[in-house]
Amino acid sequence: MAEDTHSPPDRRTRKRVRLVLLGLLSYLMFLVPMCIAVLAGASRMGWGGVAGFTAAAVVINLVVLAAVASGWSKRFADPSLMVPQLVAAIALALAMIHFFQGEARSVLLLLFVAIFFFGLFGLTTRQYLRLTIGTAVGYAALSTWELRGGDAPTQAWLMEALRFSALVVITIWMSFIGGYLASIRRRLSKQRDALEKANAKLQELSIRDELTGLYNRRHLTERLEQESERGRRYGQGFSVALIDIDHFKAINDTHGHSVGDEVLVQFAAILRLQARFIDHVGQAPERTLGRFGGEEFMIILPGTSLAGARICLERMRAAVARAPFETSAGPVEVTFSAGLAEQQPDEAAEALLQRADEALYRAKESGRDRLEMDARTS
Ligand code: GH3
Ligand code: MG
Ligand code: MG
Repeated sequence: MAEDTHSPPDRRTRKRVRLVLLGLLSYLMFLVPMCIAVLAGASRMGWGGVAGFTAAAVVINLVVLAAVASGWSKRFADPSLMVPQLVAAIALALAMIHFFQGEARSVLLLLFVAIFFFGLFGLTTRQYLRLTIGTAVGYAALSTWELRGGDAPTQAWLMEALRFSALVVITIWMSFIGGYLASIRRRLSKQRDALEKANAKLQELSIRDELTGLYNRRHLTERLEQESERGRRYGQGFSVALIDIDHFKAINDTHGHSVGDEVLVQFAAILRLQARFIDHVGQAPERTLGRFGGEEFMIILPGTSLAGARICLERMRAAVARAPFETSAGPVEVTFSAGLAEQQPDEAAEALLQRADEALYRAKESGRDRLEMDARTS
């Protein structure tokens, strides 16, 4: 039951439901030869029999349909209930043959071709062969029972032997071809699943920064464009903050580049934790935090005013200030400066970023370890 682990469950259920409906349609199509046989006097079932068979087919299909559509059948290894459906169809076909006479009986063998074709939607060769054995035993039993008593002419036995051998040859042949085709379908479907998985993984990797696991610059830029577009279109503003570690070069110079990397990783973890727990003024949608490059980070705060953004950033600053940055070279003190800006009506992402950058520059100029806001309004 390893299925349904990553593809949306409803897609598969819908597919199974369509298959059951196809089955129902196939039954109903056989109404035509059944009626003609009654008209031609080749069938002893009469109109009552036709109605009975139709009712049985509809009931079987409705039961299967309910089991599949409700998701109840998912508990089985064969959630489309393919084998029970085919077994029921074979039983019905054998019962129908019982009422047919002479040449019409041979025509009905075509039913088994249709039934076995249906198995292409998922039977293995082994399951096919079991159905073949079931069909052969069923047909042989039916014939023997009909011709029992010893007074049937040899010709009748021979005709039954002819039908029986044709039936067995066709169903065995279908078992191997069908099992093979079904295995190709299964392989393709597995490969498609694997491809989808790999694609999703690649997609995720392509927007992540390798060192810190935060979003990378590409994703930040994309999100910034989206927010900016949304802001211009729907008037829902947002704020952005550029965060830059103070004197980071000194950490690298004193302890080495790899210690610098350790600091970046811890710094990112603190920001991420804070971004997750920030109390928001209003119910703001998802924030985007990422590494813009080097020791520079960015957070995009949708639906957040400059004042709201400031509260967030102050929290982050406090968290960084009290965090022990334990590195392989011992504890390191880390502070950051940040520049904040809120999108103005009709302001482009680039201009907003420029303002945040200027604010950051001012924060550095006026002594670092502080926030500066660009409160300009247009
Ligand atoms: P300021 O307070 O003005 O921001 O000073 P700063 O030293 O932090 O800024 P500056 O831009 O002069 O130096 C940033 C340094 O960050 C220079 C660069 O070597 C280092 N750096 C950039 N990316 C990485 C990285 O991935 N790992 C490490 N260890 N260092 C990096
Ligand atoms: Mg710096
Ligand atoms: Mg820098």
